[in-house]
Parts: sequence; C-alpha cells; structure tokens
Amino acid sequence: MRLIRLFLLSWATGLVQSDAVDDQLQVEEDHNLTARAVPPTNGVHWTIHSSCRTDDQGQPDNAMRDAIIQAVNDAKDRSKLTADRLEKWKKDCHSDRGNFMIGGENRIIKKACQLLLGDSKVTTFGKTAFQDKVDAAKTWYDAVAQIVGPVGQANNQFHVSQEWTALSQKDDHWLNFIIYCGPDLVQRMNPSTMVNQLYDQGQLRFVRDDKVHAAMRREYQADAFDNEDQFANAVTDHNKEELSDFETIDGKRVPLADRKHVAATITLHRLMLKKFRDRNFNIKSWDGDLDSALKMGAPGPTDTYAPIDHMVGLVGLLHHEMYHTPGLGMLSDKDQSIAYDWKNMEKNKDSELPEYLMFLALLVELTDKKIQVHQDGTLSDRR
Ligand SMILES: [Zn+2]
Repeated sequence: MRLIRLFLLSWATGLVQSDAVDDQLQVEEDHNLTARAVPPTNGVHWTIHSSCRTDDQGQPDNAMRDAIIQAVNDAKDRSKLTADRLEKWKKDCHSDRGNFMIGGENRIIKKACQLLLGDSKVTTFGKTAFQDKVDAAKTWYDAVAQIVGPVGQANNQFHVSQEWTALSQKDDHWLNFIIYCGPDLVQRMNPSTMVNQLYDQGQLRFVRDDKVHAAMRREYQADAFDNEDQFANAVTDHNKEELSDFETIDGKRVPLADRKHVAATITLHRLMLKKFRDRNFNIKSWDGDLDSALKMGAPGPTDTYAPIDHMVGLVGLLHHEMYHTPGLGMLSDKDQSIAYDWKNMEKNKDSELPEYLMFLALLVELTDKKIQVHQDGTLSDRR
C-alpha cells in the first residue's frame, strides 16, 4: 500500500440558521483561510465524545479512550515543559556581537532551538527578536498547559456527564472543546428545504455531502480513503454563531438568549485511528530506542517526511488541532502548501502556525530526552 500524506485541517464554519432564514440551505462555508487568531484563554475545558470509547459494535473500547486522553495530557505536559524551557532560555539568552547565545546550557539545546526560533540580531538594547518570539510562543503553551479535563472522567460518562452538561449551559462554552473519534452524522429532514440531509450532531447543523465530515464517514464505511495522497486525518470545527451572536444592551455585549452553546469539535478520522492502533497508538514510543520509536510513529510518506515527522503521533496531531479551537487561539493553517511538516516549519519559522507550535514543543521534549534534532529533521540518540 502506498504511504499516505497526512493533512490537518481547520474548518471554520459559517452557517445560516434555518430556523431564522427559512429559504436558505444551512451549510458549511468553505475552509476559512482568513480566520484571525484570538488571544488564547486559560482554563479551557475539554472532554471526549462517546465515539472515542466505543468500537463499531458499540462495545467499550478502553484502549482508544485511554490513548486519546493520554495524548491530550501528553500535549498538555509538553506545553508546560516548553513554556518552562522557553522562559529559561530567554533568561539565559544574551547577545554576542549581535547574535544570540544561550548561556548555561549545552550546545545541543542552543542548536535545537535555533532550528525553529532562528538566529536573531539584537533589535533594541538588551532585547532581541528571539526574546520577542519566545514571549509570543509562551502565551500559546501556557494556555494549553492550563486546559482542564477530561471533564466527566470519574464516572466514565465524559460528554454526557453532569459536569459537561453544566458547562454547556454557559455562554462561554464555545471556548471549550470536545474530541470525536469519527463524525457524528445522521440523516435528518432539513425544515427549511424539506429535504433529507446529513446533520452534524456535534456542531448542531446540516452539512453538505461534499464536506470533510461527510468524506470522513464515507471513507470509513468504505474502509478506504478517497485519495491516499490527500485526506484530512483530523478536523477542528467551531460554530461561527457562537463567536458572533451578541447584542448590545445598555452598551454591554450580551449573548443572544437563543444561543446554541456549542463547544468546538476536534474530529479524528477513524481510518487514521486504525493506523495508529496498529502502532499501539504511538503513546509509549519514547520508552523504546529511537529506531523503534520512529517505526511506531505517524504513518506517512517516507519520500517527503523527515524522521521527526514520524514522531508527531497522536500527541502532536491533537496539539496542532487544539490551536485551531477558539479557546486556544483559533490559529489558521494559512497557506496549505506550507502549513505542515518539519521541512516547512524549519524553513519558514512562522510562529503563528499550529504546526510550528506543535513542532517547537516536540523539539523541546526530544531535546529534553537527549535526542538531538538536526536541521534536515534527522534525529540522533544521545541517551
Ligand atoms: Zn491545521
């Protein structure tokens, strides 16, 4: 079988509410490349949908449930580690003839962070562009380090728990996120068109057959991707109404009373999860030697992937997706041709890409575990 190229997509959804606008079909908008980043929020809550804890027959699937939860917790821990290391590097950073140096750390760490943060000339007295970049990056990691969840874990109910239901009553529920293992679509009569249509129970809206959630479902049912070279292995959705439905009363912005209260959804492709299951969900890859870890890593094309791309795994994938949620910055992938892979991050060093933030944190963790990362994305084990 040909190896696959992984694509991570963010779908910003604009929808026309059928209740309010009778004659219009309620659909998703196309991929929104112009979505603007918003400041991340500390204390975002998250949980998993029941699709992440049951198999196709509806039986408990504890391995998948535990893998998803651990991946999010690992991304959280990695963010905490990265925020700490960045703070330390910034303090240790000093200028030497206009180039930044990191004192008090070994050369490997200095070289590692240069790969993504870049060399930096001193721009103002005592402060460098490097330090500014560290400050900006740290904000994103702090927010992920402070996410709360999975909500409802204690009673194994998660999104149907009392705790999550209580959160969903609040007007800031759009800042929270829920992870789906496969889209939650049903056929339903669209009251505005009187036509049966796919309805997304996660985002509470109708979706067109040619949209990414519909493709995920179709591909899983067929047990084959439509296009092995290009498919979405995860998609992050948010409900545009939740961000814009306010009215001004006495000079204050007040949420509309009929607001839907929809959390952001991160939907993983179930076919992709099958591939991860074959690799024991790639969760314990650090425990083995580097060669084994690389073999356990993300499936992808060996011709274009650098070795570090295979270390992304479920942790990196979910870490990337989190930055698409409104609560954690709503960052866009910008230009799809340079949105992914180590090669593009190292070359462009665009610190407002989800993929960049994911890779910088991965690099920090690798370096912390004494695995050296080289410019071409190759790795050497110095443990
Ligand atoms: Zn993305």
